[in-house]
Amino acid sequence: MHLRKRVLVTGGSGFLGSHLCARLLDAGDEVVCADNFFTGPRANVEPLLDNRRFELLRHDITFPLYLETDRIFNLACPASPVHYRRDPVQTIKTCVHGAINMLGLAKRLGARIFQSSTSEVYGDPEEHPQTESYVGHVNPIGERSCYDEGKRCAEAIFFAYRRMHGTAIKVGRIFNTYGPRMHPNDGRVVSNFMVQALLGRDITIYGDGSQTRSFCYVDDLVECMLRFMETPDDFTGPMNMGNPEEYAVLDLARLITDITGSSSRIVMRPLPGDDPVRRRPDISLAERRLDWKPRIALKEGLSRTATYFEGLLRSGELRAD
Ligand code: NAD
Ligand code: UDP
Repeated sequence: MHLRKRVLVTGGSGFLGSHLCARLLDAGDEVVCADNFFTGPRANVEPLLDNRRFELLRHDITFPLYLETDRIFNLACPASPVHYRRDPVQTIKTCVHGAINMLGLAKRLGARIFQSSTSEVYGDPEEHPQTESYVGHVNPIGERSCYDEGKRCAEAIFFAYRRMHGTAIKVGRIFNTYGPRMHPNDGRVVSNFMVQALLGRDITIYGDGSQTRSFCYVDDLVECMLRFMETPDDFTGPMNMGNPEEYAVLDLARLITDITGSSSRIVMRPLPGDDPVRRRPDISLAERRLDWKPRIALKEGLSRTATYFEGLLRSGELRAD
């Protein structure tokens, strides 16, 4: 039998958060979504507002939050390079002050808390694939450092609370995830290519497209988060979460033009600073501890994502200007 829990999701109106909130409600939980709507529009969770077990708070986690809850999923943070570089100071505050505030809440309540960390803690990795024991290769002052170092500091704070206060932490290092409700203008590779393909614009490859990423469909990722949260308190992570199938960015572009039937040209643009060359998670820890592995193949996930973006195009939310 499922015992109803009270669950706080920070960043709940974002891409991952909105899927997580929906899944928690489906499971019968009470969900409070706290978001400042910096990158996640209210519209992402509007369909959930009819559910009496759902509550939406406009709140910035760099300020303390007082409420009662059994579980905290700390997802609040701009996640795409375009968004986090727009306000690097706020990004660091969200990672660091946000972690302290949410851990303070967890400590007071004895609640379990999940931290959405990231593959970016590995930086431009010198080890491949990345296992959790790899300590990373990060430029502390580079263009991505507000995010990479912010998330690394958040991990440090989580483990300090664990050591000092015994807080029940779950640190998940999320690798590139995609799916419906990605922000069309967030500059991430899947959303960019989808929008460009559907609008018939040039598909912009940064560099020569030989850099690799491993893409996880959102439903698989959310399932992994939910399972992780329900593991015993002594299993803290850090744990990689993602899909280990690795693709070159150029191959991704070709796949997306095929799926959308687009006649867009593929063009090369300069590579942004500190762009990692290769990235693929070793997920054996998640497989072993959670009996979990991703189920949705890239082609299938991209087709579902294309259906979402086609809907935006039909409704006028994506416009060729
Ligand atoms: P997103 O930008 O869609 O969602 C982030 C949400 O946090 C947004 O709704 C935003 O408004 C909110 N937010 C930002 N700053 C806030 C603040 N100070 N207070 C309250 N709310 C705030 O991004 P996402 O892809 O859903 O990512 C969610 C989390 O997962 C992030 O922490 C991100 O770092 C992590 N992550 C995501 C990926 C990915 O591929 N999607 C990969 C690694 C890690
Ligand atoms: N990328 C690209 N064209 C785009 C957007 C991104 O070639 O229009 C590349 C980017 O340089 C990176 C990869 O795709 O090598 C993934 O970028 P994204 O911003 O999605 O995520 P991250 O770099 O954080 O993994």
